[in-house]
Parts: sequence; structure tokens; C-alpha cells
Amino acid sequence: MTVEIQRRGLMLVLSSPSGAGKSTLARWLLKTDPDLTMSVSATTRSPRPGEVDGREYHFKDIEDFLRMVQQDEFLEHAVVFGNHYGTPKQPVFDALAAGRDVLFDIDWQGTQQLRQQARDDVVSIFVLPPSREELERRLRGRAEDPPDVIAKRMAKADGEISHWAEYDYVVVNDDVARAQEQVRVILQAERLKRERQPGLVRFVDGLMRPEAN
Ligand code: 5GP
Repeated sequence: MTVEIQRRGLMLVLSSPSGAGKSTLARWLLKTDPDLTMSVSATTRSPRPGEVDGREYHFKDIEDFLRMVQQDEFLEHAVVFGNHYGTPKQPVFDALAAGRDVLFDIDWQGTQQLRQQARDDVVSIFVLPPSREELERRLRGRAEDPPDVIAKRMAKADGEISHWAEYDYVVVNDDVARAQEQVRVILQAERLKRERQPGLVRFVDGLMRPEAN
């Protein structure tokens, strides 16, 4: 007997303050997990050196972005540190329909909105730095940054961290390999949830029911 076990795709959200190592984790996940697709956000912020339009972000001017908001093209959108960010709907729906899981690198505001839209399909992970001191060390970055710039970065980080308790899982990134393993295990367990495997549930049910005659 052949049984088609379809699995319902999930939406995996990674949030963290900058400096906690979230981008490294996301890159590793995408490289090692063939069933995962990255959601590429739209933003009004300018590209940083090395960023490519359509790869890291879809870079938009404010008029284009607001037009997309008006035409209901975003699954969620928010202002983060003075710039607009949003998740285009269609690519996410397409990926989920193709049985793929989708990875989101969005902030706490976007995570809340996503949960309102698709509570059962969202799995959220908050990535914490090992300590405040370590975060400050990482945010210090270039030695020549003035103290007020560093203080601003820390304040932003504190704002983001204050939402950690709204997430399903918390991963402390003190060791990259360990954090990677923890995220991988979360994803694996979530994929195995009964309600994400309707085909399997039907199959098992079928076995347990007497044959109709
Ligand atoms: P950055 O400009 O440094 O790439 O990102 C700044 C912040 O915006 C990060 O916390 C990132 O998670 C968040 N962000 C990126 N894309 C989106 C998005 O589409 N929606 C929301 N709500 N936040 C986003």
C-alpha cells in the first residue's frame, strides 16, 4: 500500500536583537535544510555594502512600500528603527502551498501580526545573546564608534529583548554549534507534530477503523 503523507508547512520565525547571531543561524538553517525557504522582506532602508536587491531584501522607496501596504500585499509590516519593513504575502503562500516551510527574520511586531494571521502555523524562536556584557561587546563593533552610538544600539537591543517571553522557544546563543543544534531540533519536533501531518493521521485512522462492506 502506498500512502501519501502530506505535511502542512510551518512558518518559522527567528527574532533577536542585532548582535545575538540570528543571521548566522538563519544562513546555516537555509544551507542545511532543503525544505526551508527564506521569506525576503521589503524595506525602505538603504542597502548596506554587499547587500543585493531581491536577496537580502527587496529595497523599495517609501511610495512603493506604501502602495504595497494599500494593496494589501503584506502578511505583516512594521516600522523598525525608523524604516518600514514588510513580508510580501504571495511568496509565502506559494512556498507553503508547495509543502515547504518558510523562515522569517522579523521583529516582535511582525511576529505578533503573523501569529494573529496564522496562529497554528507559526513557530517562533527568540535568540538571546549569552549576556548583556557579551552583547555590548559585539555591538561595540568598530572601536571608533562613539559611546552615544553604542548606547543607542544597546537601547534598541533592550527594546527587542523585552519581548522575549512572547515567543514559543528561547535559544541562548553562547555557542554557535549548540544554538544551531537546538534550532534544528525545534524545527524537527515541530514538523513531527500530529496536526502538521494530516495525511499520516488519516492513514493511521484508516488502519484502526473496520473496513466498510
Ligand atoms: P536590518 O535593517 O538590520 O536588516 O533589520 C532590522 C530589524 O528589522 C531586524 O530586527 C529584523 O528582524 C527586522 N525585520 C526585517 N524584515 C522585517 C519584516 O519584514 N517585518 C518586520 N516586522 N521586521 C523585519
